[in-house]
Amino acid sequence: MSFSANISQLRPSATIAVSTLAKKLRAEGRDIVDLSAGEPDFPTPAWISEAAIDGIRGGHTRYTPAPGLPELRRAVARWVGGSAHPGWALEAESVVVTAGAKQALFNACFALFGPGDEVLIAAPYWTSYPEIVGLARATPVFVAGAEDRDFRLTAEDLERVRTPQTRGLILCTPSNPTGAVYSIEELRAVATWARDHDVVLISDEIYRNIYFSDVEGATAPGLLSLEPEAVGPWVLVDGVSKAFAMTGWRIGYSLTSPEVAKKLTALQSHTTSNAATPSQLAALEALSQSDRATAEIQAMVRAFRRRRDLVSGLFREHLPHLPVVEPQGAFYLFVRIDGEFSEAVPGSETWCARVLEETGVAMVPGAAFGDDRYARLSYATSDDVLEEAVRRLAARSREG
Ligand code: PMP
Ligand code: GLU
Repeated sequence: MSFSANISQLRPSATIAVSTLAKKLRAEGRDIVDLSAGEPDFPTPAWISEAAIDGIRGGHTRYTPAPGLPELRRAVARWVGGSAHPGWALEAESVVVTAGAKQALFNACFALFGPGDEVLIAAPYWTSYPEIVGLARATPVFVAGAEDRDFRLTAEDLERVRTPQTRGLILCTPSNPTGAVYSIEELRAVATWARDHDVVLISDEIYRNIYFSDVEGATAPGLLSLEPEAVGPWVLVDGVSKAFAMTGWRIGYSLTSPEVAKKLTALQSHTTSNAATPSQLAALEALSQSDRATAEIQAMVRAFRRRRDLVSGLFREHLPHLPVVEPQGAFYLFVRIDGEFSEAVPGSETWCARVLEETGVAMVPGAAFGDDRYARLSYATSDDVLEEAVRRLAARSREG
């Protein structure tokens, strides 16, 4: 069977592949400590789920407009706009509701980039970015900041890779896989560089609520924290998957200029039409009850922060030869593992395969995020599981 050039370069998602393998091994009876999946381990708050159930009972089971329910688009503009610089006046017309943030990223890349275009991707990157850029037949170009800055980019880093074909830049803050967070000043430098070179800035802020700030409830700095003059063409990607523990509901959204939103809507009107209606109702409830929502998020962020401290402390104590990037947000630990490389274990894929085989601990190879010296673990899991994982990794290291 031959396949279209559309997918000739496509590789399946490595994050999903590892978590599927971990589930399969567990079903076969293996004792697996699964740190692969990037999803909150909390249930969706019941009052949010109830809104979908009520919606279904009330007969809200038909199509919605392609860009989403008007009241949800308004609620997204209000929710995301709540932490924005006062210069932004976000309207519902800027919002397109999608089937997860993944579709928002796909819509943006497919609508804005094409053959001959280069799209810069801040590395280490979430594994789906290069694949999505490739589906648009554009060329991903990776650019990493200095390791001692936790890889955060400067305008100089970007200038080094710019060509006349550079059309876009995908940035993720708080970052998956490192947990690094850009300060407002760092973001401003990147955004003005993009603006000055007419580069579309796609800012993936899906983890913006999962931010370990000294100010409880603060969101991480994002594109809209900047004054509008600092920003050129832009698309902000966000959603309810992470902040509200709603990964399975499949609700994301993009915010952009109304002109771009119209194009994203036209594209979506020929693919998935609209995000699932009951899921939109649940998201509407989540974003409309902002006090209740903020309290739920704060409780989850407190738990993630405690686990971050626990797991990074355990690594420092028991695995000092595997240094970690100290996360400021999200729920991942990016661990430098090349101290354990050898002729037989030359890179992150073999290292993760060996670790899974020998200890049952499932982690995602850094190669999937563009840095083969690392592996990623998710600490969106219980203290017991995290302690057990470190215990097994440390025992394995001791045995050599
Ligand atoms: N962006 C990043 C950085 C992610 O980690 C994820 C996780 N799946 C997504 C986008 C996609 O989110 P969703 O599940 O809403 O499609
Ligand atoms: N974003 C999560 C992760 O990085 C979920 C899996 C995926 O969609 O890639 O693990």
